[in-house]
Amino acid sequence: MDVRDYIDSNAREFFDQLKSWLAIPSISADPGHHGDVRASAEWLAGHLAGTGFPTVEIWDTGPAGSPGQPAVFACWPAQDPGAPTVLVYGHHDVQPVEPLEEWHSPPFEPAERDGQILGRGASDDKGQVLLHTLGLRACLAAGGQTSAPPVSLKFLIEGEEESGSPHFADLLRSRADRLSCDMIVVSDTTMWAADVPSMCTGMRGLIDAQIDLRGPDTDVHSGSFGGGVPNPLHAMAALLAGLHDHEGRVTLPGFYDAVLPLTSAERELFARLPFDEKAWLADAGSSQAAAGEAGFSTLERVWARPTAEINGMWGGHTGPGSKTIVPSQAHAKVSFRLVAHQEPADIAVALREYVAAHTPPGIEATVTFGGPGVRPAFSPLHSPGVQAAKRAMERAFGREVLFTREGGSGPEADLEEILAAPLVFVAVGLDEDRIHAPNEKVEMTLLLRGAEAVAYLWADLAADRAGITAAR
Ligand SMILES: [Zn+2]
Repeated sequence: MDVRDYIDSNAREFFDQLKSWLAIPSISADPGHHGDVRASAEWLAGHLAGTGFPTVEIWDTGPAGSPGQPAVFACWPAQDPGAPTVLVYGHHDVQPVEPLEEWHSPPFEPAERDGQILGRGASDDKGQVLLHTLGLRACLAAGGQTSAPPVSLKFLIEGEEESGSPHFADLLRSRADRLSCDMIVVSDTTMWAADVPSMCTGMRGLIDAQIDLRGPDTDVHSGSFGGGVPNPLHAMAALLAGLHDHEGRVTLPGFYDAVLPLTSAERELFARLPFDEKAWLADAGSSQAAAGEAGFSTLERVWARPTAEINGMWGGHTGPGSKTIVPSQAHAKVSFRLVAHQEPADIAVALREYVAAHTPPGIEATVTFGGPGVRPAFSPLHSPGVQAAKRAMERAFGREVLFTREGGSGPEADLEEILAAPLVFVAVGLDEDRIHAPNEKVEMTLLLRGAEAVAYLWADLAADRAGITAAR
């Protein structure tokens, strides 16, 4: 039986299984649902064991005193011990569902309508995790065997992604031996459109900070003192305005030093995506114009270029009427989206330097970071893993596969760094799946095409194992 026939004839059973998993409200952010997150992990563990994985374990996370939500690990070695090892990453926890009244059907009573499954987690990420077991079964059936997959497969499906993966890096470090692999397949992103299959090749990182400037001990009368003492709000306005030059480039010292430039091949591929800037601006809160760094298209700006954003600024008198003061304090929150290979820690140093250099005498500045930040993730276009996944997706979809990136990110950079293996994004979600919003849905045919793609991918990787293992 070939891969597609197997998938089509097992589709009904697959969708029913997915719906029973979606009925478990595994909301990791809500302590009232932590029992459900565990039930979801147990459901998946049972399903993976039923698929044939000889090793399936539920991994608890977090310190003993304040445990986190469980991840599911499964491992199925290839028959050939020389075959490459692939780790599949996804998550089984889901977003909260409020506002409930906006759902057309209850979020945890999955419904089927017009070729879609509706329910929280349908696209993000249970549907995209489960397509892997259908794909694996199809791969085994097409290869005429059920004893072992063509590549060694490991699954790591976490239970805290929607809560910011607070224990994930620790879990990766403590289990690094068991998670070792030649490449990491991430199935938690989107394609450009149902008829424009694509693969993500990078995600931006992030670091955020609050800047506080202090001048006089208290607000002082502007008639008596104004013009004679430094005004922290003036200093803050100048400091923030100076974050960009007239071409929209960020002025922090060394900000672009580690930025990997876009290749002409990647720019050409981005440009071929059918991008409707008007519609995109409408989605951007009805923004009236595109803006940003000179010399780059909108998609390049939001996917492949780093940014500085002022998220908030306040100080002095903001109530009704006037108050003629020189304020004592000025505050701002700023954040930076980062791209490969910028390091959040380097950007933090650069911001401190910048603030110090732009703080006038008589004003005291403090910079407080919200945390260590998130490193950007990057999946090079020409890596053997990306090229193999592209071939597999093209075979499944019968169309050329293009490339995208994502403007935000999750724990992918930790996977890449701690496991020291390249990322490959294979996913079939869509931007219009309403993930994190009411009425989340997934396209049923896309799940089947995704299953088909991974079935081809495992066979392809086994055939090209020298390329995959050499690339590490
Ligand atoms: Zn997700």
